[in-house]
Amino acid sequence: MCQNHKETSKNPSHFESISSSIEHPTHTEMLWNDYKNLIQGMRFFDPHIHMVSRTTDDYQMMAKAGIVAIIEPAFWVGQPRTGLSSFKDYYSSLVGWERFRSSQFGIKHYCTMGLNSREANNERLAEEVMEILPLFAYKEGVVGIGEIGFDDQTPLEEKYYRLQLELAKKAKLPVQIHTPHRDKKRGTERSMSIAIEHGLDPSWVVVDHNNEETVKSVLDQGFWAAFTIYPFTKMGNERMVAVVEKYGQERIMINSSADWGISDPLAIPKTAALMKQKGIPLEVIRMVTYQNAIDAFAKSGQIDVTDFESDFQLDPNAKFHGNSILRGGQQPVLDKNSLFIQ
Ligand SMILES: [Zn+2]
Repeated sequence: MCQNHKETSKNPSHFESISSSIEHPTHTEMLWNDYKNLIQGMRFFDPHIHMVSRTTDDYQMMAKAGIVAIIEPAFWVGQPRTGLSSFKDYYSSLVGWERFRSSQFGIKHYCTMGLNSREANNERLAEEVMEILPLFAYKEGVVGIGEIGFDDQTPLEEKYYRLQLELAKKAKLPVQIHTPHRDKKRGTERSMSIAIEHGLDPSWVVVDHNNEETVKSVLDQGFWAAFTIYPFTKMGNERMVAVVEKYGQERIMINSSADWGISDPLAIPKTAALMKQKGIPLEVIRMVTYQNAIDAFAKSGQIDVTDFESDFQLDPNAKFHGNSILRGGQQPVLDKNSLFIQ
């Protein structure tokens, strides 16, 4: 076993950065096999991932690594939208094409609907978005209002955060809160106290992007504490293992928040592998990488676990409004466990 291999076993999130060389043509394969063995038979639920920004390669790898269901929160697309139609089309894709695309890889796709905090600062547009949001919040597969909350913590962000908490109450949907990257502790406390002020039951609210500074207060107040495993920023998976060792499994869940930035759609399986290596009991791993996310978002009444716990049959020839993910001439392979686009 070479040095690189040892190091990577300690932190599986680094495995992709190590390229195979001519001298070791099977190196990457060996790493993949080791990592795969650690998570063999495990099922994962990623409650925060932005698949519209990801590729079919990601879907294939995720399915292969045991991710059976995901939640895609409505969010900021990296640049400001200029009109209501862009929001409409984006929301439609979350309940339409993207859900179909995911299903073609054997992954059950849910989403949360919301006006993200950054674009809440465009008041004219935000007003229009608030008018169409209820039309999407009640659609099939929508498991919450999210991701909402604070970015720069401006008065307009607060205004639309409050309005969306009211929408969540009315629609009887859980809330998925995005906490700010800057001034996080204050933003997190503020998000929670406003939610309580609006009469939300903390057990219906998932507070996301926690770190070691915020987790205690979030758990103490009865909210769900979600952690994003980003490579190099926020929570690395080594830090996440330490959090679970300290706080246990109750009301804690992890996610990848993979999007158009540098992020890792396999963050959950990799962290699970690391946890297993560090001796964290399997049941604890199962709760933080699968069950807790289901329990939190199933309050929407939209999650039926038999959709992804039973071995459902893929129809690789399926179409969505006449469109398929297969390109002309491609032959689908029916085995769910193989990469069916060749
Ligand atoms: Zn996000």
